Amino acid sequence: MKNRSPQISTRLCHAGLCTDEKTGAISTPIYQTATFRHKGPGRSTGYDYSRTSNPTRHVLEKTIADLEQGHSGFAFSSGMAAIAAVMGLFKPGEAVVASDDLYGGTYRFFETLARPSGIKIFYADTTNPLKIADVFSREKISGIFIETPTNPIMKITDLRGVSKLAKKNNVLVIVDNTFMSPLLQLPITLGADVVVHSATKFLAGHNDTLSGLVVAKSARVSKRIGFIQNASGAVLAPFDAWLVLRGLKTLAVRLECAQANAKRIASFLVKHPSVTKVYFPGLSSHPGHSLHKRQARGPGAVISFSVTNAKKATSVLRRVSIISFAESLGGVETLITHPARQTHADIPLATRQCLGVTDDLLRLSVGIEDEKDLIADLTQALE
Ligand SMILES: *Cc1c(COP(=O)(O)O)cnc(C)c1O
Repeated sequence: MKNRSPQISTRLCHAGLCTDEKTGAISTPIYQTATFRHKGPGRSTGYDYSRTSNPTRHVLEKTIADLEQGHSGFAFSSGMAAIAAVMGLFKPGEAVVASDDLYGGTYRFFETLARPSGIKIFYADTTNPLKIADVFSREKISGIFIETPTNPIMKITDLRGVSKLAKKNNVLVIVDNTFMSPLLQLPITLGADVVVHSATKFLAGHNDTLSGLVVAKSARVSKRIGFIQNASGAVLAPFDAWLVLRGLKTLAVRLECAQANAKRIASFLVKHPSVTKVYFPGLSSHPGHSLHKRQARGPGAVISFSVTNAKKATSVLRRVSIISFAESLGGVETLITHPARQTHADIPLATRQCLGVTDDLLRLSVGIEDEKDLIADLTQALE
């Protein structure tokens, strides 16, 4: 009988399970070593030096490649280091199109490092295929970088549609899958070539480590990313790789719980008199709701919302008590941030306002606390 491949929640739970055959250790050992002794000249154990490869990191890299259904995975010291490595695929003179609503750090990288190094960056509303087709027809484009849902406005891009269009134009499709994780969205199965993660967020899940992951669909791109990873060196340390593996084990239960909380909180916010707008793909009123449903298994656990004015926004930040006023997302603890002042402060004011990243916008990363406590906290903070 052919073995049925286990469900994703089982594969997540078994991340790093029994990888050390010699001892049978259930948890992957932390190989806290910089280098490895050779058995003799020309006789490597397969590991030579931890920048090139480390057994603990290797287990995480194999695990994420399997989860995202790609050829190979690569672990970096942060999400930004992962994005920097992916941008290393492009040479000076080549051009990349990016979603116009992006994580602020990615925008800063594109503007202050990628562009000065000679890579052309064009921003487009990737939710509109006509806008992408328009850039493709005007410029010779080598890559497209997409967030869906976007951070923080939660705009949805049609991954199948964009990938088809990209393939026709020989454009490499890169998807930042941080907001969804492989539990909810599998960009490679929808046509993407490269997936990046800030594993700092849902994958590690406990707000205790930074990390970034890349998965490439083809052997050719994998080889290139592996080369860049070793040559530039922003690799994930063994202990941090272990923390991400441990986080992955509970991703399904954490995210299902946080997502259920987020759905209830979104319905609460929609009805609240001090809330003027709610951005959450789980709401049927969200413009990308049905498209998102076709390509992802759930809306995730991040909600952005606008309140009556900027003063109200700062008052909410001051008043929350169960919820922490802190950057980041995807952890077990509920966090609230002010994108215009924090994560997206490097985006020019006019661009921010055009996108809706205004001073009255807050972003809530819903955690796994009791939903009643979270709603009570938001109720008093919004008073
Ligand atoms: C946080 C984040 C990043 C950057 O990751 P770090 O781990 O903070 O370097 C990139 N993309 C998205 C969507 C993020 O939320």
